[in-house]
Parts: sequence; structure tokens; C-alpha cells
Amino acid sequence: MMGFNKEQNIIGIRVLNDNVIWLWKNKKSAVVIDPALSQPVIEYLKVNNLNLEAILQTHHHSDHIGGTRELIKEWPNAKVIASEKEKDRIPFQNLSVKDNDKLQLLNEEVQVIEVIGHTRSHIAFYCNKKVPFLFIGDTLFSAGCGRVFEGTYKQMYKSIIRIRDLPKNTLIYCAHEYTKSNLLWALDLEPENQNLKKKLNEVEKKLSLNELTIPFLLDEEMKINLFLRAQNLEEFTFLRANKDSWV
Ligand code: ZN
Ligand code: FE
Repeated sequence: MMGFNKEQNIIGIRVLNDNVIWLWKNKKSAVVIDPALSQPVIEYLKVNNLNLEAILQTHHHSDHIGGTRELIKEWPNAKVIASEKEKDRIPFQNLSVKDNDKLQLLNEEVQVIEVIGHTRSHIAFYCNKKVPFLFIGDTLFSAGCGRVFEGTYKQMYKSIIRIRDLPKNTLIYCAHEYTKSNLLWALDLEPENQNLKKKLNEVEKKLSLNELTIPFLLDEEMKINLFLRAQNLEEFTFLRANKDSWV
């Protein structure tokens, strides 16, 4: 996993209880995704002498936009990119986007993918390189998916299918380190599932070494994510409701 990170120049900064701020960089500039806080990002960029080119906002929750105000004080030319549907709830946005828009970031083409469900306007950012990568916010987690707060189960299921249909070698960067508890839930439902057991082992090892369990490969995730494996809306809805009541 670290190999992938290095190759793609994407690093994760763990903040708050379980948030991960992703920093995508080249030699001179960086793009930050969902900065819950500003301080660790400012520190990293200054130490590494990087200009902040853009802030990507997947949705309006405070643990995703909380650091933006202070970041644009330091880098007033940074683009703040967010859904055009969230002009009220995501302040400071100066580049409003919609589904399928194409952006140029760090000299790469990035596509906006709308994935509604967690909120009524959640978006993701997809870069189709040799190893494609996706910043998915709170829509999909390793072994889990986001809670359906504002959208409908049908919308969320459609969003999950849209992710499922991306190239199988896509590396997915989500915004929370929830992998272990998601796996424990999945194992409650499928106690004999060997893929889940194996993944839990790997995850516990990484966590004990203080490593992140994300990003994850779509291909591998297809084996262990019950939401990605759901055959239809009914099954998806059952799983989501079951997870909501699981403690
Ligand atoms: Zn959220
Ligand atoms: Fe969140």
C-alpha cells in the first residue's frame, strides 16, 4: 500500500477521531481533499515547500470543510472546489462543479462524479491514470459505506453501483478510518467468510503499526464489502439498515 502511495504522491494525515485528510502532490504544488483541520496541512505544506493549488470538498459536513477558512488565508489563490448545489452550505467555494465536469489539477484531468446519498449533493473526484484513483469522501469506506443522511437508499445504491463499475484497479481514498469496525459488523453477518477474516487480520496488523488501512483497491474490496456485493436495492437497504442498528 505504501508503494502505491509513493507512486501517486498521495499522503494521508489522520486527524480528529477517525478522519483522514488526503494530500495529493507533485514537486511544487498540492491539492488537499476534505481538510477537517488546517494546522497539520499548513505544517506539511510549509515544511515541504508546496503551494496549495486547490481544496476539494466532497460534501458540507464540518469534519470535511473545517480547515478550509484557515487554508485560504495562507494560500489565497487556492481554488475551493465544491458542488454547485452547496453554495450555501460550503462557504469559500470559488469553483462550483457538477456531475461529469472535468478539472485540471496538478496537470492531470480529474472528473467529478456525483454520488448522492450520504448528503443530497455529495461528489467524488476521479483521476483515470494507469492506476486510477478516486477520492470518495463519505460514500464508500473499506468494508462499509456512508450513512444515508439526506438522500434515499435508492440514490445511495445507485452511487455504490457507479463506484463498482469503475476500473477494478482503481485505488479508493475515503475520508474515515472505519475499516476495522466495518469488518467486525460484516463478520457478525457472515461469520464464516474467510475473505473477511483474512482482511481483519491484515487490518489489525496495520493498525498495530499505526498505519492507515486506506486506500483500498476496488478489486480487493469487491471480495469483502457487502454493500458493493449487494445484488439489488432490497439487499442493499437491508444491509444499510442493519449496519445503522449495529453497535
Ligand atoms: Zn460526512
Ligand atoms: Fe465525515
